[in-house]
Amino acid sequence: MNSIQKRMLNRTLRFSLTSFVGNLLMAFLVLKAVQKGQHSFSTQEINYILLFAITIFVTAIEVVVYWSNLRQSQLRQDALNEKLQEVLKGEKASQILLPKDDPFYELTMTVNKIESHDRHQIHNLTNQGNELKAIVNNLPVGVLVINRHREVQLANPATIDLLQLQIQKDPHPYTLDIKQDDLRALIERTFETKRDHHRTIHLKREPSEKVIEATVVYNKQVHHRYEVIVLLYDITEAWTVEQMQLNFVSNASHELRTPITAISGFAETLMNGAKNDPDKLDEFLAIIQKESRKLVRLTEDILSISRTQSDDPQSLEITESSLADLAQEEINLLHSGMQLHQVEVVNDIPKNVKVQTDAQQLGQIIKNLVANGIRYNRPSGHVSLSYQETTNRWQLIVSDNGIGIATEEQPKVFERFYRVSANKPGELVSGTGLGLPIVAESVKNLGGEVRLKSELGKGSTFILTFPKQWRPSAEY
Ligand code: ADP
Repeated sequence: MNSIQKRMLNRTLRFSLTSFVGNLLMAFLVLKAVQKGQHSFSTQEINYILLFAITIFVTAIEVVVYWSNLRQSQLRQDALNEKLQEVLKGEKASQILLPKDDPFYELTMTVNKIESHDRHQIHNLTNQGNELKAIVNNLPVGVLVINRHREVQLANPATIDLLQLQIQKDPHPYTLDIKQDDLRALIERTFETKRDHHRTIHLKREPSEKVIEATVVYNKQVHHRYEVIVLLYDITEAWTVEQMQLNFVSNASHELRTPITAISGFAETLMNGAKNDPDKLDEFLAIIQKESRKLVRLTEDILSISRTQSDDPQSLEITESSLADLAQEEINLLHSGMQLHQVEVVNDIPKNVKVQTDAQQLGQIIKNLVANGIRYNRPSGHVSLSYQETTNRWQLIVSDNGIGIATEEQPKVFERFYRVSANKPGELVSGTGLGLPIVAESVKNLGGEVRLKSELGKGSTFILTFPKQWRPSAEY
C-alpha cells in the first residue's frame, strides 16, 4: 500500500466513524420522535436493534459512496500532477479531457491552457534561440562570450577562423584560446573596470597577419551576473587600402616635391646670373625639362587612374587598328628612356595583324608595360612585344629580361599605389605605383584579362588576352 492509498484509507476511516456517530444520533432522534407519536410500537429492544441495523446500513452506503468519490478525485489529482510534472520537465504533456460536470473540469482546463501556453512560449524561445544562433554563426564578425568565471561560453565560426582555434564545445578558460597579449590585456581591463574597451590589434597568424578591430563589451545581467563579449572585426582590407593611400600621398608628395624643388631651384639660379653662362644654361634647362616630364607623368597617371575607373564601356571608341603600328607609336615615345636605361625594345608583332579595340586605351596599356620593362631592367636588357591568336581571342605578350618580381609581390603589383620596395639594387626607380593598376583597369574596360609570369632576377612577362569580337566584359 503506497502513501496515497494509506491517506485515502485514513480519510475513509475518519469519515466512517463520523458518519456512523452522526447516523446513530440521527436514527436515535427519529426513533424517539416515532415512539412519542405511536405508543403501540414494539418493544424497546427491537427498536434499538433496528436502530443499530439502519445506522450500519446507511453508514455502509455512505462509506462506499465516499470511497468511490475519493478514488475518482484522487485519480484526477494524479493525472493533473503527472501532467504538471511533465510540463515542469519541458516534456510534451498529453491533454486531460473531462466531462463538463466533473468537479475537476475547470481546474483541468486551466492546467491544459497553462501547458499549451508554456509549450507555445518554449516553441517561440527555441525559434528565437535558433535564429540568434544562425545569425551569430553566419556573422562575418567574430563573437566570443566569456562568463564571469573567465570561461569561454560561445565562440562563433568567424572567431574560430580569425584566431585559428580548435572547436571546443565545453566551457574552458579564455586564455587557452586567446594568446595575443594585447587582446588578453583588453579583456582583463574590461573585467576590472567593468567598462567597454576597444582597439586595433595586429594578429600574427598563418599565412599572413590580420588587422582586427577588437571591441570588448561588459554585459551586465540580472542578480549581479555579468559576462564579457569580445567582438572581432577583420579590417585587414580597409587597413591595407588606407596604408596604401597614406603611402601614395607620401610617395606622391615626395615625387612632386623633388621635381618642383629642382625646377624652382634651377630657374632661380639661372635668373640670378647663370643664364649668362651658355654651358650652365643648357645644362640647367635640360634638368628643368627632365623634372617637368616627371611631373607630367605623375599628373597623367593620377588622371588616368581616375578616368579608367569611371570609364563607361559605351564611351570607348572601338575601331580596327594595326596592332604593330599602334605598339610602334608608343615605343617611339619611349625612346629617351630606352637610351637612358640602355634597353632595347623589339616589336615582333606581325605587320598585318588588325585588332578591334580602343586605340587610345590600348596605347596607354602598351606604353605603361613597355615603360616598366625598360625602367625595371639592366643595361643591355631588352623588352619584346609579340602576338598570338586562337579562333576567338588574341594575345599581346610584353616580355622583358629585367629584374623580375618576387612571387609574393606579384598579386600586389596590380593594386593601386603599390610599389615593390628596393626594386632596383642600389637605385630606387621613381614611380607612382599607378602604372599597372591603370593597365589592369584598361584591360578590363576592353573586355580582356591580364596575367603576369615573373621570376626574380630573370624577367617578367605580361600576357594580355582579348576577345576578337569586342564586347564589354570577358565572357569567352
Ligand atoms: P610604378 O612603376 O610607378 O612604381 P607600377 O604600377 O607600374 O608602378 O608598378 C608597380 C611595381 O611593380 C613597380 O614599383 C615595380 O616594382 C614592379 N614592376 C612593374 N613592372 C615591372 C617589370 N616589368 N619588371 C619588374 N618589376 C616591375
